[in-house]
Amino acid sequence: MKNVISAVCIKCGAEHEATPGITTCSKCGGLLDIKYDYAYIKKNFTKEKLAQRELSMWRYEELLPVTGEAKIKKLRVGWSPMYKADRLAEAIGLENLWVKDDGINPTASLKDRASSMAVVKAAEAGVDTIACSSTGNAASSLAGNSAAAGFKTYIFVPDRAPKGKVAQLMIFGANVITVKGSYEDTFRLSAEAIDRWHWYNRNAAINPYLMEGKKTVALEIAEQFDFKMPEYVAISVGDGCTIAGAWKGFKDLYAIGAIDRLPRLISVQSTGCYPINKAFAENKPLEHMEENTIADSIAVGVPRNADKALNAIRESNGIAVNVTDEEILDTMRLVGRTCGVFGEPAGSAGTAGVRKAVKDGLIPSSATVCTVVTGNGLKDVANAIKAAGEPLNIAPDMNELVKYLKI
Ligand SMILES: *Cc1c(COP(=O)(O)O)cnc(C)c1O
Ligand SMILES: [Zn+2]
Repeated sequence: MKNVISAVCIKCGAEHEATPGITTCSKCGGLLDIKYDYAYIKKNFTKEKLAQRELSMWRYEELLPVTGEAKIKKLRVGWSPMYKADRLAEAIGLENLWVKDDGINPTASLKDRASSMAVVKAAEAGVDTIACSSTGNAASSLAGNSAAAGFKTYIFVPDRAPKGKVAQLMIFGANVITVKGSYEDTFRLSAEAIDRWHWYNRNAAINPYLMEGKKTVALEIAEQFDFKMPEYVAISVGDGCTIAGAWKGFKDLYAIGAIDRLPRLISVQSTGCYPINKAFAENKPLEHMEENTIADSIAVGVPRNADKALNAIRESNGIAVNVTDEEILDTMRLVGRTCGVFGEPAGSAGTAGVRKAVKDGLIPSSATVCTVVTGNGLKDVANAIKAAGEPLNIAPDMNELVKYLKI
């Protein structure tokens, strides 16, 4: 990889060779961050080249840590649509709001960006089995992307995971273990199993390449804004890999001169589980929290990537907003009705956070804001019905119809 220098420990600064199977720092156990040769990338990454490439996350190859040698079948991940959401903007009280719908990815969440990367790195590492633990989406996404490429998977999810996500796992042929416990319990068990059977590790944060996949959402946002950045980008936060990845993407583009300003991040968590936002707001070390929210994908009481996420929020001069389950459900409905975009609870949380930030005067109505819908609502129909209610149910009789419709 001519574009990659090393994998640097964010705790002790030790530099390691960026081998495909690398996980955490061998000196101190800290998380690793892929370090790039920006001078090399600046010379080789041009907008002319970009214009010729396929519309997927892999169009940014100079900024991705892959050799190009892994020849595997990939699903089409990325290049999700960016909608100018004028009716939603008006309802929220903003002048300029865009919605990026990452729920259109092949397994219906942003996690496909990380899983597509994981599968390529597993192929480079020459293994045949990949494993992870997940609140649900990383799991279904790993299962789908692995099925396409022909890898075997072992997947651990807490038994609270919504049915839609578990159904995906079963259809994609994963070996699924649902764990009677929290996400933290699930994570711990998967880590032990990965150690024991030497599977390729697709666990959030532990594998430094996943964030590099997730950063493509930021590269796309920049390109879709014609490299003139919005002032704010809102992202819902669980483990913290998505927001940290997005920040890495923006900083990469800034480092090579492709953009001339960085956006401020809006970190959105649930009032039922907000350890990262709490540490940020109080400027204190992270404390673990309970996982009390319907937004299962961001119900992460012990976030694995808190250090990088906190760095990202701080460096971007970002803001942290916590939203209630009611605010999430209400926003799910509002985004559906004004944009035709259907997010799962965690996928709607980012926009709920924008709404709250405007209401509380944290961002001015003149601000240019981009919000990312991180997962599709069909994954969790039970909560969607909670948000929108049940439909009219009548006998097949015209008189009844007239009586009920009142039009
Ligand atoms: C995983 C996930 C998030 C949060 O990403 P983290 O990297 O865990 O912070 C947000 N929304 C959805 C739909 C997700 O699946
Ligand atoms: Zn270290």
